[in-house]
Amino acid sequence: MDPIEVVKARELAATSTPPPTAIETLPLAASHGRICAETANARSAAPPFANSAMDGIALRHSDVKNLLPVCGTVLAGHAISTLPVGQCMKIMTGAAVPRGADVVVAREQLEFIDNNARIDGDVRVGQNIRPAGEDFAIGVPVVEKGELIGVSHQAALAATGHHQVQVFARPSVALVTTGTELVSPGESLASGSIYDSNSIMMASIIQAAGAKVNLYRVDDDVQATRELARSVSAQHDAVISVGGVSVGEADVVKDVVCELGRLNLWRILMKPGKPFMLGEVNGRPWYGLPGNPVSSLICFLMIVLPSLWRLQGREKSFPSGLPAHLQTSVRKRTPRLEYQRGQWAREGDQLIVTPVSAQGSGQLSGLTTANCLIELAANTFEFAHGAVVTVYPFSQLLPGNEHV
Ligand code: AMP
Ligand code: MG
Repeated sequence: MDPIEVVKARELAATSTPPPTAIETLPLAASHGRICAETANARSAAPPFANSAMDGIALRHSDVKNLLPVCGTVLAGHAISTLPVGQCMKIMTGAAVPRGADVVVAREQLEFIDNNARIDGDVRVGQNIRPAGEDFAIGVPVVEKGELIGVSHQAALAATGHHQVQVFARPSVALVTTGTELVSPGESLASGSIYDSNSIMMASIIQAAGAKVNLYRVDDDVQATRELARSVSAQHDAVISVGGVSVGEADVVKDVVCELGRLNLWRILMKPGKPFMLGEVNGRPWYGLPGNPVSSLICFLMIVLPSLWRLQGREKSFPSGLPAHLQTSVRKRTPRLEYQRGQWAREGDQLIVTPVSAQGSGQLSGLTTANCLIELAANTFEFAHGAVVTVYPFSQLLPGNEHV
C-alpha cells in the first residue's frame, strides 16, 4: 500500500466514517456544544410585537411639531394599548409600541412641560422602534442541521419559542494506547518505562472535539491486542489507537486490524506522522495514530478531526489555514510535506510566524510553547526569511483552544 498525501488521507478518513444515526431531544439549557440534528425554525417571531428600543415617548410622526399631552405610560410587560390622536405616551425600553404610534422619541430629545412633551431635533418615522419579527420572522431557520450549538444559538432558540432541541447523540470513541513501556502518571517508573503522556492528551482533545471517550491500554502483544480490538470495536462508534503502526517488531496494531477487518490506508506523505493507519474492524472506523506524542497530535488535528465532526453530524469544512511571513529561514530534510510547531502573531496588517525551537516528534516542550502548525510544502527544502507559508492556528482547529 503506497503512502498518500495529507489532503487525500483526510478525505478518505472522512468518507470512510459513518454519519450519526441516534438523535436525542435535549432541554435547551443542556444543548451547549452539541450538534443540531434537525433545522429549528422560529416558532414565534422575535421580537413578537413592535417594541421600543429606548426610554422616551411613543407618538404619531404627524404630531411631531405639537406640544403633546402625555396620556399614560407603557412599561415592558404591559399589554398592547392604543394611542389617542394628538397625544403621546411615555414608553420604556422593551414596552409594546401602542397601536397608532409610528415613532419613539428618546428621553434625551424631550422636554416635559407640565404634562406635555416637546421634541427637540429631527425625528423620522420608525425611529427607535424594533418591528415585530425584525430579528427572526416566524418560520425562518434559527439553527441549521449540522451546526454546533453555541450560547448565541441557545438564546436565539429561546427567543423564538423553543424550549428543547434535537441533537445528534455524542459518538463514543475507544482510545487504545499501546506500548509495553508505558506507565500511568502517578505510578513509579521501572527501568525502561516512560510515562504515558499521550492518553491524557488524546482523551482531552477527543472530548474537546465533541466525542465521549473510554480509555484502554494494551501491551505490544498480538493476542492481547486482538482481544481488545474485537471488544472495543463492537462497543464504540470508532476506535483511535496510539502507537504500534510503524514497522518495528513490536508494532502489532496494523496486523491485527488487517486480520480482523480491513486496512484502508497506511502511511502518509507527511512529517511527522508518516506511519498513520486507517482501517475498520467490526464495521467501525479505526484511526491508528503513531505513538510519538507530537506525531499523534498532528495526525489527529490534520487527518482525524473532520472524521470526528462527521461522526457527530457536524457540517464544517476543514479550515484552509492563514498566510504568514516566516521570521527566520527554515530548512527541511525530507521532500514530504512537513508540519512544524510555531508561534504566530499579527504584525500590522500581516501575520508573522516563528518555528519553536524543539521540533522533534517526541518533544512536548516545543508543543507547549506553540500556538499553531506551520505547513512547509512538499518538495521544497529551503524557506527564506520572509517567505509566506500557511499556518493553522490551534484556535482555528479547536475553537477556544489557543494552545493545545
Ligand atoms: P510507536 O509508534 O509505538 O513506535 O511509538 C513511537 C514512540 O512514541 C516511542 O518512543 C514510544 O515509546 C512513544 N510512545 C508511544 N506511545 C506513547 C504514549 N502513550 N505516551 C508517550 N509516549 C509514547
Ligand atoms: Mg509502541
